[in-house]
Amino acid sequence: MKIALIAHDGKKADMVHFLSGFRDALHRADVELVATGTTGSHIEKAGFKVQRLLSGPLGGDAQIAAMAAQKELDMVIFFRDPLDKHPHEPDVQMLMRICDVHNIPLATNLASAELMFKALTQTINGA
Ligand code: PGA
Repeated sequence: MKIALIAHDGKKADMVHFLSGFRDALHRADVELVATGTTGSHIEKAGFKVQRLLSGPLGGDAQIAAMAAQKELDMVIFFRDPLDKHPHEPDVQMLMRICDVHNIPLATNLASAELMFKALTQTINGA
């Protein structure tokens, strides 16, 4: 299982906090993590193993969209900051569209990400 992680600047702390809550489950499930550059460095510092791509504004979101289109991802967690402007907004829209085209679970806020990870944890535990 491979999960992509992206967090806009105002949401990076939320992403680290969210992941930390599922640390054991992610480890047990042998989940591979991939992230945009700066998000990835925050996640790495929190002790996770993660494949880091380009930073979002430099093409990282587009790289994740390409992986999604090639069916290399099982889930995308994308903590967007709806109160901030983003120079790469077209890439953000493109990534979400590609997830919809390929029916890849996409969470764009903490509440939906928690529901998806809880479901994932239950599946792993055979509940
Ligand atoms: P970043 O990119 O992880 O490199 O900050 C995220 C984004 O803004 O899309």
